[in-house]
Formats: sequence, structure tokens, C-alpha cells
Amino acid sequence: MSAAQIMGLVASGQATSRAELSRVLGWAPSTVSAHVQELLDSGLLEESGEGSSRGGRRPRLLSVRDGDGVILGADLGGHHGRVAVLDGTGRPQRIEDIDLDIAAGPAPVLERVAEALGELCAGRPVRGIGVGLPGPVGLTGVVVGPSRMPGWSGFSVRDWLAARFGAPLVVENDANLMAMGEAVARGRELRDFVFIKAGTGVGAAVVTDGRLHRGARGVAGDISHLRVPAGGDQPCSCGNFGCLETIASGAALVAAVRRDGVAVRNTADLVRLAHDGNPTVTTNLRFAGRQLGEVLATVVNFFNPQAVILGGALSGCDLFVAAARGVLYERCLPLTTQELEIGESTAGPDAGLLGIGRLVIDQGMPAPAS
Ligand SMILES: [Zn+2]
Repeated sequence: MSAAQIMGLVASGQATSRAELSRVLGWAPSTVSAHVQELLDSGLLEESGEGSSRGGRRPRLLSVRDGDGVILGADLGGHHGRVAVLDGTGRPQRIEDIDLDIAAGPAPVLERVAEALGELCAGRPVRGIGVGLPGPVGLTGVVVGPSRMPGWSGFSVRDWLAARFGAPLVVENDANLMAMGEAVARGRELRDFVFIKAGTGVGAAVVTDGRLHRGARGVAGDISHLRVPAGGDQPCSCGNFGCLETIASGAALVAAVRRDGVAVRNTADLVRLAHDGNPTVTTNLRFAGRQLGEVLATVVNFFNPQAVILGGALSGCDLFVAAARGVLYERCLPLTTQELEIGESTAGPDAGLLGIGRLVIDQGMPAPAS
């Protein structure tokens, strides 16, 4: 349950009164009224006249209030970022792609992001900002021991941005944001799921009852350093050996395929060659998918999710997903896989930005009483 759900329903016209919200969301009228009041008080919604009545008092109509500032979002990867202005319901209005090198460290990267966001908002007041990073982020917006972000460990992205913009901030790991984007895209049908981001790195997020599960320190779902059977003594960037990341990340796959004599530069090359049916690439991808499946089998048995959703560049490789799915069915208790959905993300390239919209709007809103 979330304030952003109410905002989304009102903005799309699916529900424009308290009674309709109560019916669509399945919440008690008193719960809906309390939340609508919060949104009215905070200026996100407004009352705009009266609707028709089937007898009794006419319902007061609700609408999304515009003109009180924009939400800014930046979803950052290793070499590329998407920056956007989002509307009052958290949907991207205008998106721009920027080049960056996350390994250059926080100051130059955030300067570049702040400049791009500043241009996009064009002097309008900023209601809130969300930033996604390709590494672990603690609950206070501090980056914690990232393996692919040299110079960022211990850096407070939240403090840096707060000093620059002075607006409420959300700083989150990219897999967490993509998971929330998927929750927005699928709505109430998808409540309990695990999201896997299989790209250059490999990350995961946990969503329970439609809400992000961050854990005690904010790093719940980080599966990249779980040990896998085939990992052996393969050294990992974390200092340990045999982690999932050394086998099933795009970066590890690129290195493995190169060792086998195929020229690839990055994960995108790998995906292209997989679609062309290159036998070395497909063999390596199948192997990596099975190792991911080993880890997911433990996660699924433990958490009993409704779905395992895959996003990131490798999620478009059917044989990688099929290999993971095969191991899941082999290794899981039948009860956990009977109705388990295992499939590709539907939220598309804007998943991270949709997740930013949801979290920025929900931030500061009290959790609804159930
Ligand atoms: Zn590791």
C-alpha cells in the first residue's frame, strides 16, 4: 500500500473519489480517507468539485495538484545514466541520457548529474530527488563497499545532493529501484517478489506486500557475493573467492568468453553474440544461468515469492533465463514453484525512474494502518 498508488489512480482517472479509491484498492474507507487527507495536507492532491451521486451526498472529486514543483530522478550505471523530470504521480515526463564514468569517483559524477538535473528542471521548484546507484547503498544514503565504484565507499550521496538542492532525497541501489518500477508497472497483481538485475554486475531486491524490503542496514538482497559451486577459487572483487559475481555477472562472462578466444568488449556485445547463436557465448551463458539458478533456488525456498523477475541486459537472453529456471524447478520444493512466475521485467528501460517516482512520493508518507 502506498501514497503513490493513490496518486497513480487519481492521475489516471481510474479512481477520482474516496469511495472509488476504497473500492479499487480494497482498503477500508477510513484508511483511504486518512491517506487522502495526508495527500491533501501535503499539497499533492486537491479537491476539485463534486461528482455525481447514486443517492446521498455527492462525492468530492480528487485531482493531482500541479505547479508545486517537479520530481527529479537520476538512474546511474557504470558508463551511462538516465536523468528525468517526473510528474506528480512519479511518471517520467522528459528523459535525457548522459555519459559518465562511475569509476571517476563521486565528485565528478555527481557534478555531471547535478548539472543535467539543473538543466532539466529549468528553475522550477524541486519537490524531491531520487538517485539510483549501481552498488550497495545504506539506509542513510551512504555507499557501502561497492565492488564496481572505486572511490565511493563511505561517501554520502544524500549529503552531497542535499547541500546542492535542498529537497527531500531518496538514494537507492539500482536493483531496488528497478524492483519498485516493476511494482508500479504491474500494480496490485504483483505483491511478493524477488527482482534480479543481471547486467554487468548481478544484484537483487526483495519486495514484500508491495513494499521494498531493505533490511536492517539497507543491503537486503545483495546476492552477488554468495558462493556458488562452480566458483571454486576464482578471486572476487570483494576479497573472497568463488562468489556468484565471478561466474554470472556480465563482466565475468565477458572475461570468460575472451579467454575462450571470442572478441567482446562488454555485456552488450555478449548479448548480441548470444542472439547470433555464437556457440562459445551460449555455452558460457547457459553455465552462468545455472549458477544463478543455484542461488535463486535457495532464495525461493526461503522466501516463497510469487515471482522471480529478471531485469538488466542478460535478462533478454532466453537461454540464460531458461538455464536459471531449469535449476530452480530442479532444486525447489514443489509447493514453492507450483505457481511461481519466472520471467523478464515488463517495466522496460524506465523501470529505475518509475521506482524513483514511487519512492520519492512515498517518502515521508506514513505507512497505512492495515
Ligand atoms: Zn565477492
